[in-house]
Amino acid sequence: MSNKTVRTRSADSHSQPWHNWSRTQACTPAFVHQPADAEGVSAVIAAARADGTTVRPLGAGHSFTPVATTDGHRIQLDRYSGLVDLDTDARTATLRAGTRLCDIPGILRPLGWALPNQGDVDPQSLAGAISTGTHGTGLGFTGFAGTVRAFKIVTADGVEKHCHPGAEGEAADLYRLARLGLGVFGVMTEVTMDIVPAFDLRADEHREDFEELRTSFVDRCREVDHLEFFWFPGQSEALVKHNTRTAPVQRRRATPGSIRHRLGQARTFVDEELLGNMGLKAICEVSAKFPAATAALNKFATNAVPERVYSDEAHRVFVSPRRVKFAEMEYSVPLEAAPEVLDEIREVLQARGIRVSFPIEVRAAGADDVPLSTAYGRDSAYIAIHRYFKEPYRDYFDLIEPIFKGYEGRPHWGKLHTLGRADLAQRYPLFDEVAALREKVDPKGLFLNEHLRSLFV
Ligand SMILES: Cc1cc2nc3c(=O)[nH]c(=O)nc-3n(C[C@H](O)[C@H](O)[C@H](O)COP(=O)(O)OP(=O)(O)OC[C@H]3O[C@@H](n4cnc5c(N)ncnc54)[C@H](O)[C@@H]3O)c2cc1C
Repeated sequence: MSNKTVRTRSADSHSQPWHNWSRTQACTPAFVHQPADAEGVSAVIAAARADGTTVRPLGAGHSFTPVATTDGHRIQLDRYSGLVDLDTDARTATLRAGTRLCDIPGILRPLGWALPNQGDVDPQSLAGAISTGTHGTGLGFTGFAGTVRAFKIVTADGVEKHCHPGAEGEAADLYRLARLGLGVFGVMTEVTMDIVPAFDLRADEHREDFEELRTSFVDRCREVDHLEFFWFPGQSEALVKHNTRTAPVQRRRATPGSIRHRLGQARTFVDEELLGNMGLKAICEVSAKFPAATAALNKFATNAVPERVYSDEAHRVFVSPRRVKFAEMEYSVPLEAAPEVLDEIREVLQARGIRVSFPIEVRAAGADDVPLSTAYGRDSAYIAIHRYFKEPYRDYFDLIEPIFKGYEGRPHWGKLHTLGRADLAQRYPLFDEVAALREKVDPKGLFLNEHLRSLFV
């Protein structure tokens, strides 16, 4: 086994328990490895083959589903991160797969480049974000997997393959079918992905009438760069975040007392104190103890957010910390279906008197050609429901999931859902082809766990 391997303390007997960010999944890997190169990854795979166990790659553990859990060998690529190559003509960057999203702006921005789009948070690893279809909002943009132009992956035979459109044989199949692969095809080691010239965002955060927003969302998504909204169920207004792309400006970072500093403080309140941190936590805590107060608290939360316009470097606007733990289910539905889906959700929550202290988040992304992408072949709306981690989520999620399913919904691979292989094959035209390639590349299921087996076998 590679001398770069790190074993958990007493790995052969009482190895260390692990849980994911949201505490919805837990496991105890027998071994934890942090290889610093592809050879180290191959060595771990050889060891797992030899001892007849399994391998699961882990990124930042930000998935809500058990996609990364294992009682076998865990591989983390935190020691395998950073820029490999920047091709300004092709407008691509090649990054090591363990690179955290939060480190990418620090790499690209000084060189005049940026990721085309980002989601709400950035602790995720690049491979983890790609492998579950992580996305932001904006119809002119795809999720991370849609921006992948090539990747390297170490498969069950221990060989690193370079997968790109011009490759041949298995590498070509892997490029076509497995850019988004939940780590069931092997361990990604490098990714070549689209980049764009560095840009800033002008953020416009305000309240709007929910009904008008619901009915106009589809048209408005086509007119603007990045639109999303948060709606506390039962409220007549929603919180809108509308970001417009602008040319990059050189900034001196904030000094106390400057206008920028004051804007920064206000933004901190919206993103960190309300949606991400203590304000929402307080609301969730009170609501969990006194459910009858939920509607009033939700109204307070909606009205407490100051309306604001500000500009900053793109990644600073896209991303904000989420320190209040929650469980989440998110489905993509065909874009045009979003108003009806939201209407049904509102109706069912009203009818059942379900009180929820976490907002519903609504976003959009453009169609892509990645077979397991939730936006494969269709412009998509993303509707996410959340529940504070101290409250049971099952009843709420069980109530809403059939609505998503009724509109050809495809669940985010990293967020809670109850679908199995037959459901997935109905929703993804190439699912059987993807599953057959998985079987061919990894016939012994070296990269499967119980959850992934239920999806692919
Ligand atoms: C607070 C919070 C906010 C979020 N916001 C968003 C959002 O805005 N948009 C969105 O779409 N999602 C969002 N998510 C979901 C999250 O982006 C995804 O679940 C993502 O996969 C997490 O990345 P990770 O690095 O933590 O991967 P992990 O959860 O650790 O792993 C995810 C999958 O990737 C696989 N994997 C990891 N590394 C490799 C590798 N090297 N090779 C092959 N496979 C690998 C794992 O085996 C697993 O199957 C959010 C989650 C949280 C907790």
